[in-house]
Amino acid sequence: MAKGFLLVLSGPSGSGKGTVSQALMKKRNDIKFSISATTRKPRPTEIDGENYFFLSEEKFKQMEENGEFLESAYVHTNYYGTPKKFVMDEIEKGEIVLLEIDVQGALQIKKSYKEAVFIFLLPPTMDELRNRILKRGTETEEDIKTRFNNAFKELDFVGEYDFFVVNDEVENAVKDIEAIIHSEKLRVKRHNNIKLNITGQGGK
Ligand code: 5GP
Repeated sequence: MAKGFLLVLSGPSGSGKGTVSQALMKKRNDIKFSISATTRKPRPTEIDGENYFFLSEEKFKQMEENGEFLESAYVHTNYYGTPKKFVMDEIEKGEIVLLEIDVQGALQIKKSYKEAVFIFLLPPTMDELRNRILKRGTETEEDIKTRFNNAFKELDFVGEYDFFVVNDEVENAVKDIEAIIHSEKLRVKRHNNIKLNITGQGGK
């Protein structure tokens, strides 16, 4: 059986991570999405337990103290974290688990899970990124400024990732990510016994 792995997708606010990962999940049933916990307030279209687990700061801190997060970070004035149990259970079953997290979280995962795959999603230009943040219309002016400034800083971290994907069109970005998944699935180290699978005789 192929081993499961973590697929870490990062990119600045406005790079279209949410849209791209939703399109990817719609197209494929071999990827499980890790639902993060956050202290951010839900946006009008967001559903608790589907987009995020929306928690009070107290509950978040409690989970953090109990070691229930695989990684956690303070991003744009709120806390975010990846619940550990779901991810570990799915990896154990041989699934691919998609983590849509910021660069701080990705760096934490990189230290502890060497076999994760790291993808950085880029907007075609910074002007386009600004337009996308403005168009979403769900953030305050202050928040938009924070997100745009953070986007510049986050771009410095692209060198920490294995792959970059430019999100000019969602469909193209999804195809690029699928190509990455396809080759990652063919990595020898992700299979227990290739010889046994094709010959019925392993290890000889
Ligand atoms: P948003 O508030 O726009 O949904 O997300 C803000 C940022 O937090 C995005 O960069 C998103 O990828 C990141 N984020 C979402 N969930 C997590 C998480 O569990 N851990 C970390 N480190 N970042 C997260």
